[in-house]
Amino acid sequence: VSPVTPAGEGGVAVLRLSGALAKALLVKNFRSSAKTAEFESHRLYHGQLVDARGTQVDEVMAVFMRAPRTYTREDVVEISCHGGSLMVRKIVDLFVEGGARIAKPGEFTLRAFLNGRIDLSQAEAVVDLISARSEAAGKVALRQLGGALSKKIFLYRDNLSDLLALVEASIDFPEEELDLPVLDGFRGSVRGVVARIDSLLEGFDSGRALREGLSVLILGRPNAGKSSLLNALLGESRAIVTPIAGTTRDTIEESLVLGGFPIRLIDTAGIRETNDIIEAEGVRRAQDKISEADLVLLVVDGSRPLDGDDYLALKLCRDHRVLLVINKNDLLPTPLEREFFSLPQVRVSAHSGQGLEALRAAVVKLFLSASSDAEVGESTLLSDRRHREALWRCREALVRGEEGLGPGCALEVFALELREGLEALGGITGETTPDEILGKIFSRFCVGK
Ligand code: GDP
Repeated sequence: VSPVTPAGEGGVAVLRLSGALAKALLVKNFRSSAKTAEFESHRLYHGQLVDARGTQVDEVMAVFMRAPRTYTREDVVEISCHGGSLMVRKIVDLFVEGGARIAKPGEFTLRAFLNGRIDLSQAEAVVDLISARSEAAGKVALRQLGGALSKKIFLYRDNLSDLLALVEASIDFPEEELDLPVLDGFRGSVRGVVARIDSLLEGFDSGRALREGLSVLILGRPNAGKSSLLNALLGESRAIVTPIAGTTRDTIEESLVLGGFPIRLIDTAGIRETNDIIEAEGVRRAQDKISEADLVLLVVDGSRPLDGDDYLALKLCRDHRVLLVINKNDLLPTPLEREFFSLPQVRVSAHSGQGLEALRAAVVKLFLSASSDAEVGESTLLSDRRHREALWRCREALVRGEEGLGPGCALEVFALELREGLEALGGITGETTPDEILGKIFSRFCVGK
C-alpha cells in the first residue's frame, strides 16, 4: 500500500494496494449503500472507509481491478480519499494494521516489470515521463514507455539468436566443411545488426538533449551583464524553473523551456585575466564547463570598447558553438571589433528586455540545426546513457566476432561474441540486468510509482 499522489493538501488523494490480499482488505474496511457484496472488477464504488471498530474514517471512491489487467499485473485496489496528509496517513495505517506493507519507491513499477507487463526500458520511461520538463522530452519518454525502443532491441536480439543457433549447429557438425558462402552469410547478418545499432546510436545526442536538456553556458567578463541576462531569460518562465542539485558556488544553474526544448542555463563566474590563484581556478573551471556545454552565450557589454578580458573569453570558447550576445543595447553602442564579426550575434538589453525574443529564437534555431531531426522522430529513440553503453558493448562484441571470421577460424569464439552481444542487449530490456543495477534504477522512482 502507498499513496500514489504527491504529499500535501489537495482535493483528492489516491492510494493503491497491490497484491493477493488487496480485495479482502478493501472489503473488510468498506461500507456502501450499494449492494457491493461482490466488487465488480474495474468499477468505481462510492462508500465509507471504516476502521476495525466500525468507526468512519473517510468518504471515498474505491475501485478493485482484478489481475492481470492492472498496473502491477496483481490484484489492485485504488482508493480516492480526501486529500490531506493526515487522512492519507490514517488510511495507510488502517491497511497496514490489516496486514498490508508500505510499498517501497518504485515497487509497483518493479512488480509490473517482474511480472512481465513491461520491460526494463519501459519501466525507466515511467521515471522519465514523470520528470519530463518539456513536451518534447515527454514525447520521447512516452514512446519508450509504449515499447518503441524495446521493439527494436527485441528485433536485434531475435536476429542474433537466430544467427547463434546457426553457428552452434555448424559447431556441432564439424565434419561439414565450412565453406566461404556460409561465413559470408554470418558476416552479412552481423553487419546488418551493427548497422541498425549504429543508426540508433546516432540519434543519442538529440535524444539526450531532449531528455536531459540542452546545456547553455553564459560566458563573459565581469559586469558584461551575465546575471542580468540569466534573470531576464528566466523572467516569465520562472514558474516552471526547478533548481538543480549539485549547483556549485561558482556557477549558477537554472532550467527553463525554450521553444519546447528543456534548457539548462549555466551562469559562470566572470572571466578575467588574473594572477590571482583563486580567480585563475575559476577560469579553469569555466573552461571545463565550456567543453561540456551544447552552446555558449558569449556576453559582451556593447556600450564600451571590448578589452583584454573579452578577448580572453572569446579565446576560451572560440572552438565551440557560440552565440555572441551584445548586451546593454539600451545605451549608446560602440562599434564591434573584427574578431567578433564572424560570430552569429544578437543585440539585447537585459534591462529593457529588448532583443530577448530574437535571442530565444536564435538559441532554438542553433539547437534545431544541431539535431538534424527537429521533430521527435525515429532518430530520438535513444536517450539513456545506460542504454547507449549496452548498445556499445553489443556493437563491440559483434565487430570483434566478425573480424575473427575467416577460413579455419574457431566458430566457438564467434559464438562467444554473439552471446556477449545478446547479453548486452538483454541488459536494456532487463532480461540480463543484475540485481544491483535493478535496485539502482528503481530507487530513482518516487514513492507510489
Ligand atoms: P555580470 O557580472 O556579468 O553578471 O553582470 P551583472 O548582470 O551583474 O551586470 C553588471 C552591471 O551592468 C549591473 O550594474 C547591471 O545593472 C548592468 N546591466 C546589465 N545589463 C544591462 C543592460 O542591458 N543595460 C544597462 N544599461 N545596464 C545593464
